Amino acid sequence: MNLRVYNTLKKGKELFIPAEGKTVGMYVCGVTVYDDCHLGHARAYVSFDMVRRYLEYKGCRVEHIQNFTDIDDKIIAKARTHKEELYHSEGKEITLKEAARFIAEKYIQEYFRYMDKLSIKRATLFPKATEHISEMIELVEALIKKGCAYTAGGDVFFSVEKFPSYGKLSGRKLDEMRPGARVDVDERKRHPLDFVLWKKAKEEEPSWESPWGEGRPGWHIECSAMSIKHLGESFDIHGGGQDLIFPHHENEIAQSESYTGKPFARYWLHNGFVTINREKMSKSLGNFFTLKEIFEKYDPAAVRLFLISTHYRHPIDFSDDELKKSVKKLERLKECDRKLRNLREELDSPAQGKSSKFLKEFENHMDNDFNTPGALGVIFDWVRHINTEIDNGRTKGADFAGVVDEFVRLRKVLGVPVTDEVQHLQTKRDETDVRKPMSDEEIEKLLSLGENLCDSEIEELVIQRELARSKQDWQKADRIRIKLSEFLRIQDTPEGTVWKRR
Ligand SMILES: [Zn+2]
Repeated sequence: MNLRVYNTLKKGKELFIPAEGKTVGMYVCGVTVYDDCHLGHARAYVSFDMVRRYLEYKGCRVEHIQNFTDIDDKIIAKARTHKEELYHSEGKEITLKEAARFIAEKYIQEYFRYMDKLSIKRATLFPKATEHISEMIELVEALIKKGCAYTAGGDVFFSVEKFPSYGKLSGRKLDEMRPGARVDVDERKRHPLDFVLWKKAKEEEPSWESPWGEGRPGWHIECSAMSIKHLGESFDIHGGGQDLIFPHHENEIAQSESYTGKPFARYWLHNGFVTINREKMSKSLGNFFTLKEIFEKYDPAAVRLFLISTHYRHPIDFSDDELKKSVKKLERLKECDRKLRNLREELDSPAQGKSSKFLKEFENHMDNDFNTPGALGVIFDWVRHINTEIDNGRTKGADFAGVVDEFVRLRKVLGVPVTDEVQHLQTKRDETDVRKPMSDEEIEKLLSLGENLCDSEIEELVIQRELARSKQDWQKADRIRIKLSEFLRIQDTPEGTVWKRR
């Protein structure tokens, strides 16, 4: 693989080499579920979805873990405000802990609803903080035992001075970070940057038993506990927004490496900020947009196109003008798809083996730290080429079929939607796509989404059905087909299974 990625830890680009062959472990910090998803979330998760899709295109199997922070101050505050309301809708007295769970569950569903519209593939696993309390306690206990953490009246703090390379990710130095006007100093802390691992419960607050009394975990410790549990002590990629570099990711490194004595994540990838009309997005400036509001005005596919039109590490400026440009780009893709629809017979000829110049250019851009603006430029060169060939009647033969096949395949790599018109044109199965069978449980979970399944999930299920059929597991294959047929038209053709929403 000649993919080069910018690693925040090394402050430069380097060759990406997964530790274990073609399996990539990727942990992405998820949302704190207490409010609607906004553009900043869309940017982060579209970025890491793009990273994952490209790695899969390169033949990797990506173990993508993304957490939900389902307990924190903001969730508790919201639970307090809505407790009364929830009491009425449930018809019984509920505790603050239960109310917090309601709030978290509600916004987890909202997260899926809006991220699915952006064609973001679902992570392999979405662990929740509240389901990993014992792992966190174990980690904190070990850190105390090693002398890296100390207790202070029911709270537990991590001692940053016990981790010699503290600051290696953000480039900050401990002695430059002695008390300043902006640092809120808790007298119990040995250093102002010491951070909380375990918080003593305040009255009524949701809490869990621990060796230090009733309390709940700090934010940073949850990501260490969940990534180590699901990906191991060292893994390939850790991702998140640039705003998380300090202190969140710096602290994750300090506590994880103190605990394991091994390097934590090897590549740290961070996406850039979103501004609105060149101003910082904030609720107080009134330029804060939720995805719900944006999707009322724009097709989510155009929003995704807009987001990948800028390199993931650069700041991106949202404005109606920019969005309108993306709407036009999307229209050009759809127009091309409409023309291709009439060429079914021509495109049935087997695609030739060699790759087109477009494919190579596309890969060159993507291999350069996922340069999506460059790759998107190639997609539109492709559109121009296909249009010219159609206009000149040069659509017969393997060359054209091959070019169209790649065109469709690489749009999927960017998650740029392929309309129903060309869905059925793809003549060969993506050989580089490494698929593993899902468990019955995972399949049932997806099937239960019914009509809410996004395109990539439907494709995944279609592949799972094919895998089941190849193993002569007719029962499983039929179960998938019957459930999908409730809202899809599915047809088996010699080129594979094609589907269309009803
Ligand atoms: Zn995190």
